[in-house]
Amino acid sequence: MQIIEIYKSLQGESSYTGIPCVFVRLAGCNLRCVWCDSEYTFKGGSRMTQEQVEAEVHRLSPDKGLVEVTGGEPMLQEREVIPLMDSLLATGYTVLLETSGERPLAKVPVGVVKIVDVKCPDSGEGGTFLPENLNALTERDELKFVIASRRDYEFSRDFIRELPSRIPAGSVIFSPAFRKDATGSRSADHCLVDPRDLAEWILADHLNVRLGLQIHKFIWEPSLKGV
Ligand code: SF4
Repeated sequence: MQIIEIYKSLQGESSYTGIPCVFVRLAGCNLRCVWCDSEYTFKGGSRMTQEQVEAEVHRLSPDKGLVEVTGGEPMLQEREVIPLMDSLLATGYTVLLETSGERPLAKVPVGVVKIVDVKCPDSGEGGTFLPENLNALTERDELKFVIASRRDYEFSRDFIRELPSRIPAGSVIFSPAFRKDATGSRSADHCLVDPRDLAEWILADHLNVRLGLQIHKFIWEPSLKGV
């Protein structure tokens, strides 16, 4: 498979926030979100076998723990990524898959925690989520909405009001979009929506969702890669 990088850091998002995690970042994405902070994944990378990827994961995290398969869009390399996730699960890792949900997710191994980043209108990629993927979600999966405007917030709010009841409220994350050109200070000023505004909208609408901040952008310099 085509790999951009494999590294260990703290998980910055999802309900696993703050836990040490090995990130396996695959190359290539078929979307072009306007605030994308991973454009360096669109091209390049190195060809690695499943065995090489697993060896590197094991070197970085020999006592198992959390592994996130991410990108780019990892499901573009489904043929190789699914056996990799199966094998990591069998070895004892907890496996997260970060995906936009634009590709079918039905074949993702059931033990994998899918973190599905449903694109809002102001990402420039609204409408790309495949509705039938809702049927592939289990109670352990999470839905994430990266919110760049009030319009994105209203889209997300209306989307979750239609969700099947088996998706627990704590598994839905509303996260302010971060400026992709943010540099320098570690500050909420880099968010395209003020986290306080987002918090107040959530409370005013009585939504039972989780407000998520990308903590790696507050721990390290916001433009730093590989953290
Ligand atoms: S899906 Fe992810 S990697 Fe692809 S353009 Fe959007 S934010 Fe970037």
